[in-house]
Amino acid sequence: MVAANKTHIKPHVAVLPSVGMGHLIPLLELAKRLVVEHGMRVSLLVITTNAPLAAQEQLLCSPDLHIVKLPPVDVDKVISSDIDNVLVLTRLCLITEESLRSLKSVLVALGKPRALVTDLFTTQAFDVCNELSIPAYLFSTTSAAFSAFALFLPKLDSDVECEFIDLPEPIQVPGCIPVRTEDLLDQVRNRKIDEYKWFFFHISRLPLASGVFLNSWEDLEPVSLKAIKENPFFRQIPTPPVHPVGPLIKQEETLSTSDVECLEWLDKQPPDSVLFVTLGSGGTLSLEQQTELAWGLELSQQRFIWAVRKPTDATGAGSFFDVGSEENDPKAYLPEGFLSRTQGVGLVVPSWASQVAILGHPSTGGFLSHCGWNSSLESIAHGVPMIAWPLYAEQRMNAAMLVEDVGVAVKPKVEPGRTIVGRQEVDRMVRMVMDGEEGKTIRKRVKELKESAPKAPDISGSSYDSLSSVAKQWKTDDLGP
Ligand code: UDP
Repeated sequence: MVAANKTHIKPHVAVLPSVGMGHLIPLLELAKRLVVEHGMRVSLLVITTNAPLAAQEQLLCSPDLHIVKLPPVDVDKVISSDIDNVLVLTRLCLITEESLRSLKSVLVALGKPRALVTDLFTTQAFDVCNELSIPAYLFSTTSAAFSAFALFLPKLDSDVECEFIDLPEPIQVPGCIPVRTEDLLDQVRNRKIDEYKWFFFHISRLPLASGVFLNSWEDLEPVSLKAIKENPFFRQIPTPPVHPVGPLIKQEETLSTSDVECLEWLDKQPPDSVLFVTLGSGGTLSLEQQTELAWGLELSQQRFIWAVRKPTDATGAGSFFDVGSEENDPKAYLPEGFLSRTQGVGLVVPSWASQVAILGHPSTGGFLSHCGWNSSLESIAHGVPMIAWPLYAEQRMNAAMLVEDVGVAVKPKVEPGRTIVGRQEVDRMVRMVMDGEEGKTIRKRVKELKESAPKAPDISGSSYDSLSSVAKQWKTDDLGP
């Protein structure tokens, strides 16, 4: 009798993203797919702080999901104000560590879900799962190439004595495209600081996962996916089963009044004529760089939409923890007269725009992006060529891949002796992508990938099948409700 009833109850899993829109967005998408397409019940566990992110709050209203906000972390208590310059990952990990103190009681109160899906920076949850006998899976919010690098890192760490950035040759991850040392992610550039220690802590726990979901698909990253699945190095780690389930990108957005105005403005522009400029959830520029970007856009005379952030010299990820919540008046820092001179050609919106809706609009023909993995996937899935403007985390690796391997982006050059991209170079890049021959080549390539992108996660596509096989296993495992 009990068994008969149980077959009618949808199996329950929990999904736990770390802090930041780039983590929440794809895990939210995974959660929705599990509910809508694979017959699961999903609780989305959300790490919160005493300063909620405005952009995040907008996303947390999905009727398909059971949203469980973990008790808010008082950021000032966990991040001591007498330590200057706590870097992004360290800050994120300290908040997560504090937040996950409640995880065990939350999972017990939820009746012990059949599985928990964490992301790269919530792996402390593995220990709780172990105690409660809940299988823990990991969703990697970045590329397969990055995941291969991450799986290789413990070996690199034990073999190499100097800093990785001082190595004379690019890093050869087995079976993968070599990574130039200048493209290495911020978190592995100095092994003596907390940023590296946190990164290494989480990354070295990857093999403990029962399975790893990758937000990628065969046509996009054939070399890295083959390496992770078949190369003897990865087999002997041992690497957990990997499941490419991408591209999982935001499908729909709640539009604000300013978003609607943007889309109405786009409706009036010719096809493929508008460059969209935004730098992810965290990206900020120095005042000097932002000024050059503004002048370059103006010089190019191309149409644009720019979600512009308050400049800061402190870090390239200046708005990671407060995007959409910060005060921002573009008139106060854009070059004098820029807004009036570009009126009609350009549209400036403060901080945040509905990226997926803009990329999906037929008038959008280029994307100046910081190359966060979600932004890269969203651009490819909508067939929009990119100007790669990497800023922080693993974005330089992504940019190198998009320009050199995938062929869907161009990257501006920094003149020798300077640290910023000058206005002439911005002008050259924008014209090249929107109007030039190289732009036509990358546009053709990105349109080809656009064709294969939705097929992978669609019913019977390779990514759909990958997720479906894990969901079936969860349905048959008799581990919980
Ligand atoms: N995003 C957006 N509007 C913006 C900037 C970003 O909707 O103005 C969304 C974007 O669509 C993407 C996410 O925020 O889904 C950023 O994730 P990504 O991995 O690209 O970068 P991160 O923010 O993690 O650096």
